[in-house]
Amino acid sequence: MRLLVVEDDKELNRQLVLALEEAGYAVDRALDGEEGHFLGDTENYDAVILDLGLPKKDGISVLEDWRRAGRTMPVLILTARDRWSDKVQGFDAGADDYVAKPFHLEEILARLRALVRRASGHATSELVCGPLVLDTKGRRVLVNGQLIKLTSHEYRLLDYLMHHMGRVVSRTELVEHLYDQDFDRDSNTIEVFVGRLRKKLGLDVIQTLRGLGYLLSAPEAKPNDKPNAHVKTQS
Ligand code: CA
Repeated sequence: MRLLVVEDDKELNRQLVLALEEAGYAVDRALDGEEGHFLGDTENYDAVILDLGLPKKDGISVLEDWRRAGRTMPVLILTARDRWSDKVQGFDAGADDYVAKPFHLEEILARLRALVRRASGHATSELVCGPLVLDTKGRRVLVNGQLIKLTSHEYRLLDYLMHHMGRVVSRTELVEHLYDQDFDRDSNTIEVFVGRLRKKLGLDVIQTLRGLGYLLSAPEAKPNDKPNAHVKTQS
């Protein structure tokens, strides 16, 4: 998952980016409203953290412009503690959630997880695909109840595919959502990661559809198995 942080307080921006990267996200940053608006308008993010008081272009205008242009990514706004009017204005401008400053990073992380899973149509923090379970809260992967150790890149890839299970995800889309702006992006490495992931999971859940991309879905159920995969169609 790839996030954008728009916050003009340099130290707060740095802390947020660091915490989000530690939590496994690819993160881009902007220090003013113009740069933030540009990035959110031209790149594909799974969620955005947007401060309201920003130089060059205020947060509300940034958000309104994104929404007017049809940008639908979830946006969490940062508001001042006592400014209820900021919250109202923010929601009316198209915000999905808010956190008041000063905040605990854990709260931001939990709210982001909720925003990202809601945006992809999931209601719980555990995503299940047959014998494969992704615990987004604990960042754990289980196959038939056994813990599977993944590198952060492998986890990020599986996390994205699990959030979008049941629909074909192209390599371009994966590159856009797994790496930050500064990363040397090469869609060929995706194939390598998918290969490693298949081997580690030991399951036949990720199909390659030549020329189209990848599809994560539950393995064919045996006659006695209960179907328990959560397959959804593209909305
Ligand atoms: Ca500010």
